[in-house]
Amino acid sequence: MSAAASNTARYWLDEAGAVASSRPPVFPVHAVRADFPALSRTVHGRPLVWLDSAATAHKPRQVIDAVSDFYARHNSNVHRGAHTLAREATDLMESARSRIARFIGAGRPEEIVFVRGATEGINLVAQTWGRSRLSAGDEIVLTTLEHHANIVPWQMLCAEKGALLRIAPLHDDGTLDLPAYQSLLGPRTRIVALAHVSNVLGTVLPVRAMADAAHAHGSVVLVDGAQAVPHLRVDVRELGADFYALSGHKLFGPTGIGVLYGRSELLEEMPPWQGGGSMITSVSFEHTQYAPPPQKFEAGTGPIAGAIGLGAAVDYLESIGPDAAHAHETALVAYARHRLADDVPGLRLLGPSTGVGVTAFTIAGTDPAHIAEALDTAGIAVRAGHHCAQPALRRYGLTAAVRPSFAFYNTHHEIDQLVRELASAR
Ligand code: PLP
Repeated sequence: MSAAASNTARYWLDEAGAVASSRPPVFPVHAVRADFPALSRTVHGRPLVWLDSAATAHKPRQVIDAVSDFYARHNSNVHRGAHTLAREATDLMESARSRIARFIGAGRPEEIVFVRGATEGINLVAQTWGRSRLSAGDEIVLTTLEHHANIVPWQMLCAEKGALLRIAPLHDDGTLDLPAYQSLLGPRTRIVALAHVSNVLGTVLPVRAMADAAHAHGSVVLVDGAQAVPHLRVDVRELGADFYALSGHKLFGPTGIGVLYGRSELLEEMPPWQGGGSMITSVSFEHTQYAPPPQKFEAGTGPIAGAIGLGAAVDYLESIGPDAAHAHETALVAYARHRLADDVPGLRLLGPSTGVGVTAFTIAGTDPAHIAEALDTAGIAVRAGHHCAQPALRRYGLTAAVRPSFAFYNTHHEIDQLVRELASAR
């Protein structure tokens, strides 16, 4: 029996990371990998091992083909021009909007605003909803584990409005101190902005409980779903999210496209952000009438090919079965945590054992950047650094960590390679 097979047999772990009594259903990972052209390339003469999907995920052929077919056959601007290609492009983009709305459980396609990514979605809310609603002394509640994309836009708003940030703390294991969070909420809380899944700890925040508590204080809730949608089934209404932001490129779609979900009532009341074509119904020098959402927030020519590619990515995920993919990933992350902790001397894992998608770590006496460079020479791609989450790392006394991250196309064998290279690099 190979080392990989024997190690796999040692650890059949259930969803909670406990040793399972039986082998989980087999996910056809090798058939799925064949859909991703980039996964068959080599780096430094070695097969690519892509453990950097939290930074950006690879794209299946189905997404690449959808984007290329748009440019090859249907390329046109949308929402204007009474010719065939304009109608085709508009239908393709609006059909993608409807499928993405269904994928995340939105009530209506009009609740889906196309943006550049999670960062732009959060900035949009800060600059429109936030600027029109906040005044001096109002409070914005964040958590310690936020990505900089969900910190800096709120700091900028606070500087402009005289509002204040309140930060919910974490336990030592990377989970949220829920009572401490609840104690931060009060009559001045206007918005709670939280990550669904942490990009550095893998922590899944208890979004529903946090949203219920925020709503009880009359606050709205924005969820940064950048690291959640690639891994978990998301239903924005069940979560109680008023806003939900995501990035297409982490969801196996193109770069330059993302989604801001907003509840209709909020989007209707919010002022527009950028002005220009496509976001109006009439313009005169005296007065401009804005279009209804989502067009009100989509000034200028949008990311048409990106939206169509993201629609194809969502179709692809539905076709492989998100639940089976998630079960495979859960087993991978649990396996990685056990092997890293057991077989690499001096390695310290970050985040809870129930973490999703990532297993960040440090190795005593070794610079994370040097570890990532050594792994690259073996064809293994991981991130090292602050992961745009400096406050989260600082909470654990760190300025940098190594972060392997996983998607459903990764294998147990790749984790064995990671562990072998780490052990030998030492
Ligand atoms: N939020 C989280 C949790 C992330 O991990 C990231 C990117 O890594 C972002 C937001 C920002 O995403 P983007 O750069 O695609 O806008």
